[in-house]
Amino acid sequence: MDDAHRRATRLRADEFYGRYANPTVRSFEEVIAELEGAEDAMAFGSGMGAIATTVMALCSSGDHIVAAKQLYAGTLAFLQGPCARFGIEVTLVDGTVPGALAAAVQPGRTMLVLVETPSNPRLELTDLAELGAIMGPFTVVDSTFATPLGQRPLEHGVDIVLHSATKGIAGHNDATIGVIAGDKELIDAIWGYGVLHGAMASPFDALNALRGVRTLGVRTAHQAAAAQRLSEWLEQHPAVTATHYPGLRSHPQHDLATRQMSQFGTVLAFDLAGGTDAVSSLLDRIRLVHRATSLGGPETLV
Ligand SMILES: *Cc1c(COP(=O)(O)O)cnc(C)c1O
Repeated sequence: MDDAHRRATRLRADEFYGRYANPTVRSFEEVIAELEGAEDAMAFGSGMGAIATTVMALCSSGDHIVAAKQLYAGTLAFLQGPCARFGIEVTLVDGTVPGALAAAVQPGRTMLVLVETPSNPRLELTDLAELGAIMGPFTVVDSTFATPLGQRPLEHGVDIVLHSATKGIAGHNDATIGVIAGDKELIDAIWGYGVLHGAMASPFDALNALRGVRTLGVRTAHQAAAAQRLSEWLEQHPAVTATHYPGLRSHPQHDLATRQMSQFGTVLAFDLAGGTDAVSSLLDRIRLVHRATSLGGPETLV
């Protein structure tokens, strides 16, 4: 009985029950914590599982969230739908404007400041040092587009770094998994809610994500080099009106990218002169590139 009681009441005991913790998932969490320079990490059943659990763990009815408007569509839908329904007010600001996030913080009421950099899908950046300097609310960075090798938000004073590991980290389009990393005390607190919310990572997905981490270095370096060459080529193309990639000298935040990123990422975006019709016609005729949702896998997708 003593042994059973100890297992059932210990934080994140991985020999009690799968939703509480699992040794394979734990290995993945330890690897991410090490890559991010964090005390600890916690994996979830998806990137959205990580985002929803983190928000619900830290915010209550009446609280306030400041978020950059440059966000993954699912994150934005979560902030504007369920958060509003649960009485959590959200203020969206332009995360590229210096000082905009800090100016929107309501002292004593803002619980969370959430940004995504580089943002999905237009590769806009938020200054990590500026975000890390905000005191009071918890600061969270969705770093999916950078991967843990492209930038280390915690070194800039940010509280939580978050990934959809479904993307570059697992890296083979065969896992759905999310992860957060930060100080142990904060991760333990989020686990305390998360174990009841139930969006835990499966050991199978964690295994695939661990497999992905082993080649993350060579994959992201190769993909970032390809993205750089492609964006330089697209930028010169007469049918392209704008190319968005932080590694381009023409990117409006290229200096910031150089300061806070060690790799500029594996995704680029571009605008076509002919608008929607031109996009449809390109997608109809494209041959080597797959038309599919996701990113960070071995195939080139559009
Ligand atoms: C895909 C994605 C998510 C959501 O991750 P899932 O694993 O699909 O739930 C969150 N943030 C960013 C930046 C993403 O690209």
